[in-house]
Amino acid sequence: PFRQRLLVVANRLPVSAVRRGKESWSLEISAGGLVSALLDEHLQSFTNSFIKFKVDELRAKCVKEFEARWIGWAGVNVPDEAGQRALTKALAEKRCIPVFLDEEIVHQYYNGYCNNILWPLFHYLGLPQEDRLATTRSFQSQFAAYVKANEMFAAVVNQHYQEGDVVWCHDYHLMFLPKCLKEHNSDMKVGWFLHTPFPSSEIHRTLPSRSKLLHAVLAADLVGFHTYDYARHFVSACTRILGLEGTPEGVEDQGRLTRVAAFPIGIDSDRFIRALEFPLVREHIRELKETFADRKVMLGVDRLDMIKGIPQKILAFEKFLEENPTWHDKVVLLQIAVPTRTDVPEYQKLTSQVHEIVGRINGRFGTLTADRSLDFPALCALYAVTDVALVTSLRDGMNLVSYEFVACQDAKKGVLILSEFAGAAQSLGAGAILVNPWNITEVATSIGTALNMSAEEREKRHRLNFAHVTTHTAQEWAETFVSELNDTVVEAQQRT
Ligand code: UDP
Repeated sequence: PFRQRLLVVANRLPVSAVRRGKESWSLEISAGGLVSALLDEHLQSFTNSFIKFKVDELRAKCVKEFEARWIGWAGVNVPDEAGQRALTKALAEKRCIPVFLDEEIVHQYYNGYCNNILWPLFHYLGLPQEDRLATTRSFQSQFAAYVKANEMFAAVVNQHYQEGDVVWCHDYHLMFLPKCLKEHNSDMKVGWFLHTPFPSSEIHRTLPSRSKLLHAVLAADLVGFHTYDYARHFVSACTRILGLEGTPEGVEDQGRLTRVAAFPIGIDSDRFIRALEFPLVREHIRELKETFADRKVMLGVDRLDMIKGIPQKILAFEKFLEENPTWHDKVVLLQIAVPTRTDVPEYQKLTSQVHEIVGRINGRFGTLTADRSLDFPALCALYAVTDVALVTSLRDGMNLVSYEFVACQDAKKGVLILSEFAGAAQSLGAGAILVNPWNITEVATSIGTALNMSAEEREKRHRLNFAHVTTHTAQEWAETFVSELNDTVVEAQQRT
């Protein structure tokens, strides 16, 4: 049977490479939102055999509907040709194709333009005052590196492209890619999907490269976002900043339509539900229940990132305990904080800030915080024993942790407290308690409501969320996007 060939282009490959010798490499599953979602794969400390098993399984999954190849950076600097050749060969077995970026480009494009400029801006976070001028000054050179990096990705795509392929570009790292690809070959089917929020046009307006980025994205045939709001913000940016025409279908530029739509991502819910039956997970669950036998468990799982609102969450928990002394020995907050972008000063500052608050609260009440990642069985077990999950993102493209929690709660029917600024609030809003994470009083009150909620009410809310999470899966998301992209191209051909 015909299988659509799909080139998935993302900044990072779903595997990362560790050099073992001049011409020898070992490969490991690497972290990242896209990886967890599209491939239902996680950065976990799996055993080696488990990694191998997972890679094969995820490959099989993609191969079922598409013949997928991955193009991206392997996360290492490989200056020598022998090393590049050996790595290319090792990756080919996993259907992965590397883009080699040198250290200077990575510094300017990835650390600089992507993580220091686009990431905070798309999440409505201002730059810290003392860094603002420095960032403004380095803007041009970082933007130039961004364009250059995108051209390097395009060169690799062009080299591997075959007629009829679908090319799916991912995320804020690759906003220039659609333009690079279409300039080379206007017949290529190109889609672009953003995994972060797209901010209000008033925010996007402040970017010196605002117009170039929008034009570059508009070169795609289909542009996708997690929520209708993000899609609307994007269309507004195109109409207000570029003066183009917005239609219900998308954005029109001199008769050419770029289709813009919302494609909310999901998770592989079955994988979590199945995991709860694994002996190892059941053992973890038993241990956790024993440890917290006389307490309700509240849980936070986040990368240690400014967007996650971790200090706000812990302050709200403190406030709740201050106001409800009867709960002091009856509830615990477990906060998993996975270190991320640790070489960026802003993230180092956040880490010490969180430690400071946690230190103070621990002195008074006791919470547990772990600055590390968990493996998949441990994570599933934690989700399953949790009474109240607390997601307080200040902004979040979707937030898959909230989905994963719901998937693991069919026995317990715990409560989800969810920030209204997470994309997931649009899909899980009916079952969750929605909060404004900036309003610590409101969050503290919601903690009380959640802890005291009746079993019937919890059951009712859980059922709504569980139904959503198990029917809107990651696989369905990918299939919908690609089929919409195919349709969009056919419709465009019919118009001309
Ligand atoms: N996760 C992980 N290791 C951990 C904790 C979490 O791999 O120790 C995973 C989690 O299961 C989820 C992802 O990291 O799939 C986080 O995705 P989310 O959309 O919530 O936030 P992001 O980190 O992409 O901003």
